[in-house]
Amino acid sequence: MKALVYKQVGKVELQQRPMPRTVAPTDAVVRLTKTTICGTDLHIRKGDVATCAPGRILGHEGVGIVENVGPSVTRFKNGDSVLISCISSCASCEYCRRGMSSHCTTGGWILGNEIDGTQAEYVRIPHADCSLYSIPNGLEESSLVTLSDIFPTALECGVINGKVQPGSTVVIIGAGPVGLAALITSQFYTPAVVIVIDTDANRLKVATEIGAHATFNSGEGGIDAVIKAIRDKTDGKGCDTVIEAVGIPETFELSQRLLAPGGVLANVGVHGITTRLVDAVTTPMLLKMVEAKKLDPAQLITHRFKFEEIVKAYETFGAAQQHRALKVLIEM
Ligand SMILES: [Zn+2]
Ligand SMILES: [Zn+2]
Repeated sequence: MKALVYKQVGKVELQQRPMPRTVAPTDAVVRLTKTTICGTDLHIRKGDVATCAPGRILGHEGVGIVENVGPSVTRFKNGDSVLISCISSCASCEYCRRGMSSHCTTGGWILGNEIDGTQAEYVRIPHADCSLYSIPNGLEESSLVTLSDIFPTALECGVINGKVQPGSTVVIIGAGPVGLAALITSQFYTPAVVIVIDTDANRLKVATEIGAHATFNSGEGGIDAVIKAIRDKTDGKGCDTVIEAVGIPETFELSQRLLAPGGVLANVGVHGITTRLVDAVTTPMLLKMVEAKKLDPAQLITHRFKFEEIVKAYETFGAAQQHRALKVLIEM
């Protein structure tokens, strides 16, 4: 089969690889129909993720069709349409039972990291019963790749961690795919005001289109002017929730300066240290919201590529500002 492999620092490559097979009785093999590229994959390509060794097939997001299941898999059978979670969960270890599957002792974020991932024609999914989700009948599956990682991450690590409430004021720093997904999912809780800050005018335009009440370009006029404008908008108090979705020291500093007394700072950006990883416990709820047409994940997909063009897709996503890229959809 064809697969996208992390070759060495700075380089990914399309290679021919053997088909995966079930190893443990709880495994399934899924034939991918759609996958996508995450900001984390770009970090791996840069050599920033120590757990991911060269030779690894990348990717932790995808939808597909179950090809084969081990004898202990009870919830899925061959031919089922499934969404793959970026987090593998055994459902029985101490952490899984506490709803913290990101710390699962035999799972967590392993796909496209410690084991081969979803940027391939086929993938082996460990703990299939609790790491796959059935796609409801009739749902348009292509944009559901955004439910593998970015929507649960934005909702759990940003909106829920940040305690967004009815009537609260929210500021999101960073209008990349996760920041925009936080903007969309914050609206489940009807905050009074959601403000978005970025340095990319195109992304701020998208933020306005999908519901931001105000946007600020911190690249124009400087940080102090942005802080003053936001304080003026919030009667001098600052914001109840600050969602940091960039991951550099400057934006973390800005987050602290925008916070109202008693406010909550939710740190989604990867700062080298992890404050909270997604547990993907909200995935069933998000699927229901899509089914009920209260969530349209297609809003974040800007580019489509055939799988053969995945190396080009990495270049486009890696130069997102130049290409006005949010999520790139890879179709098999
Ligand atoms: Zn990801
Ligand atoms: Zn577990």
